[in-house]
Amino acid sequence: MSRYWSRFVHDLEPYVPGEQPKMARLVKLNTNENPFGPSPKALAAIAAASGDDLRLYPDPDASALKAAIARRYAVQADQVFVGNGSDEVLAHLFMGFFRQDKPILFPDITYSFYKVYCGLYGIDYRTPPLDDDFGIRLADYPPDNGGIIFPNPNAPTGRLLPLADIEALLQRNTASLVVVDEAYVDFGGESAVALVSRYPNLLVTQTFSKSRSLAGLRIGFAVGQAPLIDGLERIKNSFNSYPLDRLAIVAGVAAMDDEAWFSECVDAIVAEREALTAALAARGFEVLPSAANFVFARHPGHAGEALAAGLREHGVIVRHFQRPERISPFLRITIGTPEQNQALLSALDSLL
Ligand code: PMP
Repeated sequence: MSRYWSRFVHDLEPYVPGEQPKMARLVKLNTNENPFGPSPKALAAIAAASGDDLRLYPDPDASALKAAIARRYAVQADQVFVGNGSDEVLAHLFMGFFRQDKPILFPDITYSFYKVYCGLYGIDYRTPPLDDDFGIRLADYPPDNGGIIFPNPNAPTGRLLPLADIEALLQRNTASLVVVDEAYVDFGGESAVALVSRYPNLLVTQTFSKSRSLAGLRIGFAVGQAPLIDGLERIKNSFNSYPLDRLAIVAGVAAMDDEAWFSECVDAIVAEREALTAALAARGFEVLPSAANFVFARHPGHAGEALAAGLREHGVIVRHFQRPERISPFLRITIGTPEQNQALLSALDSLL
């Protein structure tokens, strides 16, 4: 704290990211990274771009990357916005689109950054509770709102909404923006990008941090009709002309074009998720059905906090949320390599 802080800084409640431990040889299953590494083509592109050109600014529009994303998702390049991680894309859209007279809506249990952006930008919000099975009940999102945002699949539950439910929401909610945060969609969901051409109030955000294994580069994007993208560009160009550096742009293009690597890694993670779900269930865990690269699980005989602490002593880090209280019995466990998942199970066997 400093006496030079404004009241505003004093009152902020910043997001607390999952731990990035400095210790080696940890089994790190706490921040939903991809265990398989980036596409070798992305790494080659970074190597090729690591030269004298780094003295030059990158393309402020990252147009090569937008073109690669547009090709992959069969949209126009002017329907794509890119940012420094999807967190930055989300920050811009909260600032630009969610400062409305009416409160915005998002689930009570969801990505905790949404509340932080509301605090940062002075946005009023309501949080309809998840149902008893931790599912989003879109009937609780009536049209009278300043905007709607939810992840699909939701985080940290991993639960998926069918695309038909999202389309039904879009049909009745035409007066405000609907944002579908698809950070984890590639692990089992169907993307709402397919709906963009029909709904002018739909924005879909995605990230290269999970299915494309580039969390360290910070690349995120949004797809929506061109007028929405124009709005995001106005905000971005009032904030930072160059959110994506030269290495991120070339690696992003290579990663987006390497469909074979992408599907091989995603398929392996999905297979591991199913195996881990069965192994946890065999040990007495209740595991929510997940369409993501993590599972959300609780054990009837053991508190979440104690399990997380015990796992840490065995060198395995998972994520535990103290709040909201309803999810405090749960552990959020990122799907690792077969070896990492086995290390997790062995540690649990000695704890349970
Ligand atoms: N949305 C959700 C639901 C997430 O869990 C995350 C990862 N913390 C993000 C967005 C942001 O991901 P990134 O900034 O790495 O693209």
